[in-house]
Amino acid sequence: MKKTELNLTSTEFQPIFEKREVTTFKTYLAGKWVSGSDPEGLKVVSPIDLSVIAKVPKLSLQEVKDTIGVNFEKGRWDIRNMPGEKRLKVYHRVADLLEKTREDFVEVLMLNNGKIRAAANGEVDAAIERLIRADLDAKKIYGDFVPGDWSSESLETEAIVTREPLGLVLAIVPFNYPLFDTVNKIVYSTVIGNAVMVKPPSSTPLPLIMLARLFEIAGLPPASLSIITLPGSEMDEIVKDKRFQVISLTGSTETGEHVIKVGGIRQYLMELGGGDPVIVLKDATFPLTPQRIVTGITSYTGQRCDSVKLIFAEEEIYDKLKNDIIEEMRKVKVGDPREEGISAGPIIDQKTAEEWENAIQDAINKGGRLLVGGKRVGPTYIEPALIEVDKEKLKDLYLFNKEVFASVALLLKVKDANEALQLANSRRYGLDASIFGNDINRIRELIRKLEVGAVYVNDAPKHGIGYFPFGGRKDSGVGREGIGYTIEYVTAMKTIVYNYKGRNVWKYM
Ligand code: NAP
Repeated sequence: MKKTELNLTSTEFQPIFEKREVTTFKTYLAGKWVSGSDPEGLKVVSPIDLSVIAKVPKLSLQEVKDTIGVNFEKGRWDIRNMPGEKRLKVYHRVADLLEKTREDFVEVLMLNNGKIRAAANGEVDAAIERLIRADLDAKKIYGDFVPGDWSSESLETEAIVTREPLGLVLAIVPFNYPLFDTVNKIVYSTVIGNAVMVKPPSSTPLPLIMLARLFEIAGLPPASLSIITLPGSEMDEIVKDKRFQVISLTGSTETGEHVIKVGGIRQYLMELGGGDPVIVLKDATFPLTPQRIVTGITSYTGQRCDSVKLIFAEEEIYDKLKNDIIEEMRKVKVGDPREEGISAGPIIDQKTAEEWENAIQDAINKGGRLLVGGKRVGPTYIEPALIEVDKEKLKDLYLFNKEVFASVALLLKVKDANEALQLANSRRYGLDASIFGNDINRIRELIRKLEVGAVYVNDAPKHGIGYFPFGGRKDSGVGREGIGYTIEYVTAMKTIVYNYKGRNVWKYM
């Protein structure tokens, strides 16, 4: 196996790290690059071979609180007072800089996230496109005019209802799309004029720190952005701070629930756990259906909120679907993501690999039949698993009740789609669902009844850059991310009433 050593070459990043025994980064706090008061720092480990590839500052609570002060007192006004068209220019400049420094981001996403090259490039592409599409967010920032005509109380008055930035957003980012998700959260927060403090995931903080450098070069007001490298376990004091009027978190349901309890009343945007069900009707198209399902199970080794975790197939096509999925899954090549031909790299840590193993064993203990994969082939390497289970046992399984963030799916034979619908809806999660088939009337009925945030017809779930809005129901979250749609969650309405009574503007009969 190749040595996992970080080798950044773009001149843009030279000022923000030092080569010591391991590459040691600073972080960006309201315009200043700081090393943090703790000389030890936080280690960043590669899931490829568990070696330490970098260190980032371990900030103290006081350092973070002082930074909130600058973001709140100065940053939120600096960004709000910057004309919107100039903010758009900043995003376009960051997009150009991302293209210029692409190779460094690809390297970091491969080493730090364990992504294969195509997936790392895909994330950079998504980040660039999201920045450019901020032009479309801007078109959603408008208000209402409300005439007073329709109530005797409001005659001779009128109102306009505007949307204003809430001020300072706390954005908490998951490990799986550290570059894209940060771009997305920074764009929808700042496009309307909010400052933003970003909390990176402890396992993959490097793309966020590098991105802050690009925003600095591109001219985002320095006091309007911070990247706080603090472990999640130490975040309660920060989450409680009411200077954040919005908390936007993408992460597990458990983290989301905790943050809401600690944070109390305010605006939340919660993109939480999922793992999606698929319903396959008897008239589904082949080979499209098994191919898309297997992509849904194995893409980024199942470390996606929209990963396929449950497959319900009508009995008429069950055997064919099962055989074709097995055949497709056998094509997946697991290994070092830097090697040619590998389609599934490592998963993020050993703890998740253990949970994945235990969840598979739990399904087998309860009568499940492992059809393909299911072997751990290294501390962080797993063979994507497909397990056939009986519908009577489904609700007892760990994999039904809890999202496991690695490739594993349950396959079930159902009498008809209605039975699949009941089982899918009985899950605590409600992120997305897929339907494969051709009978438009049956598909339309399922769409109407599925308790999820998005339904994909003849495709696996895929949030992409949020060109279409996404977000969960039930334990999968609150609010929607999506170009234009998120504006609602990072702004407040303000009603302005104009009184013209007695001025003869309106002459009523
Ligand atoms: P996670 O463990 O919940 O962590 C997410 C973020 O929350 C990290 O930055 C983490 O920091 C932070 N955090 C943890 N405890 C916290 C606390 N008490 N207060 C404040 N912040 C805290 O999730 P993950 O493993 O990174 O990501 C996978 C999860 O994200 C899955 O459940 C997946 O479904 C979900 N996800 C959802 C969507 C969606 O669109 N719905 C998209 C992507 C991912 P540390 O790393 O320092 O602990």
